Amino acid sequence: MNFTFHSAYQVYFGGGCVRGQADAWALYKHAYIVTGAHSGRLSGALADVEAALSERHIPYTLFEGIENNPSLEQCRALGLEARASGADFIVAIGGGSPIDAAKAIAVFACEDVDTATLFRNAYKAVLPIIAIPTTSGTGSEVTPYSVLTCRDIATKRSFGDKRTFPRVALLDPLYTQSLSKTVTLDTAMDAFTHCLESVLSLKATPLSDAYNLEGLRRFKPCMEAIEAGSYGAMRDELMLVSMLGGMGITYTGTTLMHGMGYMLTYHKGLTHGAANCAVMPGYLRYAEKKRPERLQLALQTLGMTADALTAFVGRNFSFGFTVTPGEIEQYAKSTIAQQGSSKNIDPAVTVEDVVAIYRDALFN
Ligand code: NAP
Ligand code: FE
Repeated sequence: MNFTFHSAYQVYFGGGCVRGQADAWALYKHAYIVTGAHSGRLSGALADVEAALSERHIPYTLFEGIENNPSLEQCRALGLEARASGADFIVAIGGGSPIDAAKAIAVFACEDVDTATLFRNAYKAVLPIIAIPTTSGTGSEVTPYSVLTCRDIATKRSFGDKRTFPRVALLDPLYTQSLSKTVTLDTAMDAFTHCLESVLSLKATPLSDAYNLEGLRRFKPCMEAIEAGSYGAMRDELMLVSMLGGMGITYTGTTLMHGMGYMLTYHKGLTHGAANCAVMPGYLRYAEKKRPERLQLALQTLGMTADALTAFVGRNFSFGFTVTPGEIEQYAKSTIAQQGSSKNIDPAVTVEDVVAIYRDALFN
């Protein structure tokens, strides 16, 4: 057995941590803050960051308007702005979209790398990042990954290495209180799929299992609370599950469910969590064939059967899109060609396998 361990350099979890952790801010001279059009203000996180910076007399430049599923083009443009501002660190406030964008902006702020160099992780430098999540889903505050929308290949693609881990992750569950039920469910299911896929990944280690199985063990009461509309009390748990899943996929990557879901986000406009859930029933049946023992371990830890999980998705999501056999063929080819993580559950996976999973999930 051998494995390595890396994660965000410092993780603070709990109410008030943005204002409370003075050490996190004291190292730097000028912040470039990126957040979504509304999430920074709605969550209250932006006000806390502005107060923390002002108290320490650290000047900042603010950009509010990171796209959902951020594009490579937006990140490139903002990287130049960050450089022009003289920033020596990036503060990311928001869901996975602003935090992922911040990782790319942190690269482009240092140098004008071309797309191939970015996705090969062959850039030379990255500005330090302080990440403050306002959703409980992606775990991006503790992963090195940045998932970007790439129009040239008509899907999403990720980059990241040890240098793109946020230096500091400040997780305050209070910031997620302003989330709607829809976004709460959608992002929670993303966190869940990270834990599940990571257990099913061939790259799983005892350490990734420790994170993911703990995430799964805590998740079922969250699902029940969201379905019942009583999730207000579960904000801490949901953020913890999201962080655990992020730490899990840091070791293992995601697997086919994410790779296939990216196509549904790009072409059909599904949100990230919903796209994973649309694929889930077919993916579970595929996992039953390829990794039955690991699937059993995950489901037993969760405390649900695959059928119960599929029924939960059926009750709580209405996807409302149509897809043709030709589109499925195209999505399957692109998944295999563009998403290296697709092979994490089965290195021999074929385009035909992926077509069959899409059909199973979307037509049954
Ligand atoms: P998101 O796209 O960041 O945000 C979804 C929606 O929620 C947006 O409308 C956002 O508003 C709003 N929102 C966020 N926080 C809010 C708050 N506290 N109160 C009210 N509204 C709030 O969603 P996400 O699911 O967190 O992130 C999805 C992205 O992360 C995708 O691009 C996905 O591919 C990526 N991802 C990354 C990783 C990783 O390891 N890096 C893993 C999985 C997924 P605004 O538009 O105003 O922000
Ligand atoms: Fe995800």
